[in-house]
Amino acid sequence: MSVDLAVIGAGPAGGNAALEAARHGLSVTLIEESQAPGGQVWRAPAPGLAAGSDADAKAGAALRAAIAAAPLTCLQGARVWLIGRTRAGFRIDLVRDGASEAIETRALLLATGAHERVVPFPGWTLPGVIGLAGATILLKSQKMLPGRRTVVAGCGPLLSVVAAGILKAGGKVVALVDLDSRADWLAALPALAARPDLLARGAGWALSILRAGVPRFARHTVVAADGDQALAGVSIAPCDEDGVPVAGAAPRRFEADALAIGHGLVPDTAATRLVGAEHHFDAGRGGWHGVRDADMRSSLDGVWLAGEAGGIGGAAVAALSGRLAGAAVAHAAGRLDAASYAALAAPLRGQLARAGRAGGAMARMMRPRAGMAGAIPPETVVCRCEDVTRAEIDAAIAAGAREVNQLKQWTRCGMGPCQGRMCGEAAAGILADHVGGREAAGLWTGRAPLRPVPMAALLGQFDYADIPIPPPAPP
Ligand SMILES: Cc1cc2nc3c(=O)[nH]c(=O)nc-3n(C[C@H](O)[C@H](O)[C@H](O)COP(=O)(O)OP(=O)(O)OC[C@H]3O[C@@H](n4cnc5c(N)ncnc54)[C@H](O)[C@@H]3O)c2cc1C
Repeated sequence: MSVDLAVIGAGPAGGNAALEAARHGLSVTLIEESQAPGGQVWRAPAPGLAAGSDADAKAGAALRAAIAAAPLTCLQGARVWLIGRTRAGFRIDLVRDGASEAIETRALLLATGAHERVVPFPGWTLPGVIGLAGATILLKSQKMLPGRRTVVAGCGPLLSVVAAGILKAGGKVVALVDLDSRADWLAALPALAARPDLLARGAGWALSILRAGVPRFARHTVVAADGDQALAGVSIAPCDEDGVPVAGAAPRRFEADALAIGHGLVPDTAATRLVGAEHHFDAGRGGWHGVRDADMRSSLDGVWLAGEAGGIGGAAVAALSGRLAGAAVAHAAGRLDAASYAALAAPLRGQLARAGRAGGAMARMMRPRAGMAGAIPPETVVCRCEDVTRAEIDAAIAAGAREVNQLKQWTRCGMGPCQGRMCGEAAAGILADHVGGREAAGLWTGRAPLRPVPMAALLGQFDYADIPIPPPAPP
């Protein structure tokens, strides 16, 4: 049986899209790989742990309660690995509870969010080094500190979110290392004025960091992490506005057992690439993202796109774009007449424009910096799944690779379980310096599986000895 709408991703965007579409009478299946809706920013605490009391925790709890009460099906712990076209719409293959399932749907709404960008540096693969956005998962979902003494580094608002979160949980932040200058933050303030709630939260975080006496290093970058079996120290140095360390500047080292580091967010385009939707490059919105129109319609018939997979913009923009997309699908399905849709969409578009100003300013602070990938030393591992170093990527470029998919084929960079989510941007950044910029370096071709899934879930129990191996081709 086919549903009217399948939504992939139950963050602020997908959750609100599913609720809005169900409100207008569509049969909706919402699919989420985490154990509960909420996405990255409104993430639920792990079972048995108390919920937080901040605005994100409350928004997450409200979303989960609304989804539980709504006339829709929510598949949690369900990993979508394949999306295909059918005569009447789409087929979505997923793995849940170790078993494979397929869902047929007339319309598809992709709300797969974003992932983190970390530009590699010597020592970044040491235990103890984690992503800045990843640290929010530890703090929110597991109520765990990244370590006893943490350096927090990178760019954008997550720096303060994580540093303040560690302090609130009783941890120690030994240094806060920011790619941006104080002037960059001041320049972003007018756009944030549209969101006094965000300004107030930001001021609260800044105050707690100041009160704890955390040393803040503006326009600085991490140049190395050191340690034997695990992280022991982090070295930082002043940098230029592209994140490139200033030549000749002496690094400064901090003893630390944890480093939370992130260089911004990247729209998760794995699903939009797989279905063949159109993409656009905008560094100020995280780089390559899915294209959508004012009704959140992608370039493909029957496919809508909500939230950060369509460009980085923050939780408020994601939630509003989700509501608009859900209403637009209901309108396209004939469940919402033109006048009702217009009356619903107009105020949402106004709120989106306001939220977009603040979200856009924060997204620009998390933009990819042109020089950082070029500064990765030759022996540093870039692709940690396939163990590909900067020098191997340089060799492929010297041999003629001119586009990211050639790099992948020649070096195996991006072919591992993470499918390029960790290394893809760094590898493309290295290539960008040789081909005229990141946009010219291109976009990875979409490939299944979208997420790693166990073979046993797809094939059932099997024995390797039973797999028929064809005889070798004649010489
Ligand atoms: C790790 C991380 C932590 C973040 N923490 C914060 C924070 O603390 N504060 C803040 O303001 N912003 C945070 N952000 C930014 C945040 O992503 C957004 O502002 C907001 O969550 C975007 O909403 P969204 O609905 O577009 O995407 P998301 O919230 O990312 O939701 C997308 C959902 O899609 C699901 N999904 C993706 N692919 C599949 C698949 N193949 N199968 C099934 N499900 C899938 C994901 O599990 C996810 O729950 C974080 C971002 C990241 C990457």
